[in-house]
Amino acid sequence: MTTATKALMSGIMGIFSFRLSPPKTLRKFMEVQINGIPTFPGPCPNEYLGIVDLIIYGTAQSQAIENYCGGSLFREMVEGKLVNISAKSAEGETIEKEMKLEDMQFAKLMGTRQAIKNYNAMINCESYQVDTIFSCLPFEPNKSELTFSGCGALNPFQNDPEFESLGVGLPILVNGNIGHLIGPGTRNYIAKPNMMTMAPMRGMKPEYMGAFKTSCGLEPICSIAIPIPILNENIFNNIVKSDKEVPLTILSLVGREKVGEITYGDVWDNNFLMKFNPDACENCEECKAIDKCPTNAFIVKNGLITAIDRSRCFNCGNCTYLCPEAFNLDLNKIKFEGSELPIVLRQSDRYGAIKLAEQLKSMILKGDFPLRKPISKLQFAEEVK
Ligand code: SF4
Ligand code: SF4
Repeated sequence: MTTATKALMSGIMGIFSFRLSPPKTLRKFMEVQINGIPTFPGPCPNEYLGIVDLIIYGTAQSQAIENYCGGSLFREMVEGKLVNISAKSAEGETIEKEMKLEDMQFAKLMGTRQAIKNYNAMINCESYQVDTIFSCLPFEPNKSELTFSGCGALNPFQNDPEFESLGVGLPILVNGNIGHLIGPGTRNYIAKPNMMTMAPMRGMKPEYMGAFKTSCGLEPICSIAIPIPILNENIFNNIVKSDKEVPLTILSLVGREKVGEITYGDVWDNNFLMKFNPDACENCEECKAIDKCPTNAFIVKNGLITAIDRSRCFNCGNCTYLCPEAFNLDLNKIKFEGSELPIVLRQSDRYGAIKLAEQLKSMILKGDFPLRKPISKLQFAEEVK
């Protein structure tokens, strides 16, 4: 059985090592930016080697390019684009260089908190709009709309909640490339586990990566797929669970108190793919959607949206909410405190997750994916408040 999730994952970072100058010329590099994104050079100084090791956060924002973060950079690198590196040495010398992913000696993506066992839905219970990472537009007040994250019954931990097959050293797919589960992630606890992963960037697929613009800045996108062997009845009983049997907690956006509970069956209902109908576009004087796609998936010609870049579309539904005439996606409504609440945004892409789970299945069938046992169990903590 293959499981997967594709979602906003703040806890990712790129770890790189590459040459910037000939050996013996400069002592070490103190400040390095890639496409205007500040990085953390080190920890190894590589003294007088001309090589820099560095870490870039997926959430770090570029100081040179608008709406561009580490997640955007990682995707462009995987697409094979040239990136601009600006480095200052300990001597005060500045080096400018253009480079591609293939020129870098080491390039891996690490996740510190990934594939959380599903997530939550959010409602704004305040009387004012809130800019937040849980919404593309300012979150409307007075419990009037809902956004949610989580791939429901397809999530890896959901299918093996007692960690009988998931463990340290397990081969997994990260953004379409083979990597490893390396342990429990930060802020993990038994009821809400998450994982740390590591995978080479070379070989990843851009469609599973990128950045998602929220009303409070950009968040990186990442996708994970994991095979789960049906070892016993317990795992089988979890695997056959449907979205209707997977709870989805509703939290108050400000304060994060629980205000309700529904199931993933209330939000996912074979409504995974957004369909665009250009013939239904009314060529409005001012398009409500044109600059509101969080992943820049619109292909615009002469001021009109003419098509969707499917490798970028996250099936989030923001365009459907803004213009139901041209964008078709049943976002569903939920019952909450006696009224019907519209779902206005999905921050997980179930369609993309299914695609990755299918890629993993196909790799297993062709013998292109190493099915191995983990080397040790995952040890999760009790909840820390
Ligand atoms: S996409 Fe929708 S809002 Fe934009 S011009 Fe067409 S009909 Fe109008
Ligand atoms: S569903 Fe619409 S708004 Fe969302 S990523 Fe796709 S094109 Fe953009």
